[in-house]
Amino acid sequence: MKQFQNFINGEFVTTASGKTFENRNPVDNSLLGLVHEAGQPEVDAAVKAAKAAMKGPWGKMTQAQRIQLLDKVANRINERFDEFLDAECKDTGKPHKIASHIDIPRGAANFKAFSETLANHPTEAFKLDTPDGRGALNYGHRTPKGVIAVISPWNLPLLLMTWKVGPALACGNTVVVKPSEETPATATLLGEVMNECGVPKGVYNVVHGFGPDSAGAYLTEHPDVNAITFTGETRTGEIIMRAASVGLRNISLECGGKNPGIVFADCDMDKAIEGTMRSAFVNCGQVCLGTERVYVERPVFDEFVQRLKEGVEKLRLGVPEDPEVDFGPLVSQEHKEKVLSYYRLAVEEGATVVTGGGVPEMGEALNAGAWVEPTIWTGLADDARVVREEVFGPCCHIRPFDTEDEVIELANDTKYGLSAAIWTENSARASRVAEAMDVGIAWVNSWFLRDLRTAFGGAKESGIGREGGVHGLEFYTELKNVCIKL
Ligand code: NAD
Repeated sequence: MKQFQNFINGEFVTTASGKTFENRNPVDNSLLGLVHEAGQPEVDAAVKAAKAAMKGPWGKMTQAQRIQLLDKVANRINERFDEFLDAECKDTGKPHKIASHIDIPRGAANFKAFSETLANHPTEAFKLDTPDGRGALNYGHRTPKGVIAVISPWNLPLLLMTWKVGPALACGNTVVVKPSEETPATATLLGEVMNECGVPKGVYNVVHGFGPDSAGAYLTEHPDVNAITFTGETRTGEIIMRAASVGLRNISLECGGKNPGIVFADCDMDKAIEGTMRSAFVNCGQVCLGTERVYVERPVFDEFVQRLKEGVEKLRLGVPEDPEVDFGPLVSQEHKEKVLSYYRLAVEEGATVVTGGGVPEMGEALNAGAWVEPTIWTGLADDARVVREEVFGPCCHIRPFDTEDEVIELANDTKYGLSAAIWTENSARASRVAEAMDVGIAWVNSWFLRDLRTAFGGAKESGIGREGGVHGLEFYTELKNVCIKL
């Protein structure tokens, strides 16, 4: 039986309590292995190792040396690509076709992109005039924050974890990662890669477990953790924010979304359909940036609904290894129950089910898996729960609109503010509407088109702070002003 152990101070370790939990494959609910749940002693040991590593060889390395080492890590992930791919797809059930294009290459690239940004980013300098005429020189000097706790979700496990670990290490910090209990595999495998590349002991640590009364809470409440970066649900973000308030530790929160897609009648309809297909259904709808509310200008509403329905009905569901497959199961049985509860609620709230709405027949070998049908609704009221709450499944509601002002109002009428996708060929309207969105990221005629140098984060209840490019520097380093009297 495969064992997913904690990775502490460069070694894979079992736990003092001997507690384990099951890791199951959502494709058919088969058992993948046992995960060793870290208790307080293991979290203490991981934080201690991370703190000590700041004073060891890692802390003494030059920026150039660190960058070289992280480059090696990226290359080694690519050399072990198939193992990472297999581990990620078994944990999540996502098709190889997707993970081999997004999750694994981006997971590796995250160790290179920030290093380059760092190496090329200047610090500020100001000459100050003083009464004696000699002046003073000010310059900014960045130092690592120290031990960073990384709490990551299950939807893009490697990509979202390295999105934080990459810049944290590039800036000279050490990390203790708590991956989602649903997806322990790639974070564990990365421990092997760190050792193979010669990353000093204690720089990268992994503790497995859950949130409350488990590794997540022990880590975020640990006084020797200097900053916490979290991606996950807004409600969890609130709990972590409270934990971080003790000792005034810095936090970065990337949380939920209920993102709008806006389709104007003057759009390129092929692009709008293709983009909305991806934004609502890729990764089985389990993408924080995904579109769950689509607003379509009335003259093209019927055409849009019909074409999206046709697109959805052509999606091929199946096992990750099949190269023809576009669409896998949800991540777990628990999440399947949540998504199906929204499918039932939509009908209770008066939706017209355009397509889907249930559980597909996958055959005897797969029926125990976490499969749900991709689903489109119309006809819900603006205050329906299905229109207001994040489902995080392969589904969207489509509603007609008549004017630009109306759709801006509708799109912004949510407590969330992560992203928006706007489809129009009118560039003046595109920038006007994009700028009016209460979100952190607005795409025009695209979706999930990411330049890793740009700011990433959410407005309102979708998060606090920005990561990506130089913005990560603000979170992962302490900026000190040095003032030298001349
Ligand atoms: P989640 O909040 O349930 O869990 C995320 C992580 O937090 C897991 O590792 C979990 O074990 C841990 N955790 C839970 N309770 C905790 C506690 N009390 N203390 C410390 N850690 C705790 O989220 P999830 O279900 O894994 O992920 C889905 C959510 O993540 C969705 O809401 C989605 O929108 C959001 N998400 C946001 C982004 C973004 O960039 N904004 C990206 C991906 C996912």
